[in-house]
Amino acid sequence: MPYAYDPQNIFARILRGEIPNKTVLETEHTLAFHDIAPHAPVHVLVIPKGPYATFDHFAAMASAEEIVDFHRACAKVCEIVGVAPGQGYRAITNAGAHGMQEVPHYHLHILGGKVMGPLIQ
Ligand code: AMP
Repeated sequence: MPYAYDPQNIFARILRGEIPNKTVLETEHTLAFHDIAPHAPVHVLVIPKGPYATFDHFAAMASAEEIVDFHRACAKVCEIVGVAPGQGYRAITNAGAHGMQEVPHYHLHILGGKVMGPLIQ
């Protein structure tokens, strides 16, 4: 099945400036902002600006420049919010129905500021 992307999803609307966000970092291809309902003292979402629905969609279809920019931005976010170097963090992504993905625009959750507990609860 070809990759599909819904341009009306909430993160696409954030990227278009239709909904405000608390930006942590913005680069040419990437935006990072605080999660609206944080699950930890640090909870930042990092998203590519391109129209990618999931991690696998992004990894398969984005340019090398976008992919490098995204991962370098993730590293910079970890530094800005003080989790690396530091006490560490958890980086996770949800994809599709089984992953319980709510927003169909690829995003990496960066969580920290406390011991995170088991991965699956
Ligand atoms: P996921 O279940 O992986 O798709 O996660 C979606 C995340 O987006 C959740 O942690 C929500 O709290 C977060 N979220 C939804 N709407 C917004 C918003 N407008 N600004 C920031 N975070 C949001």
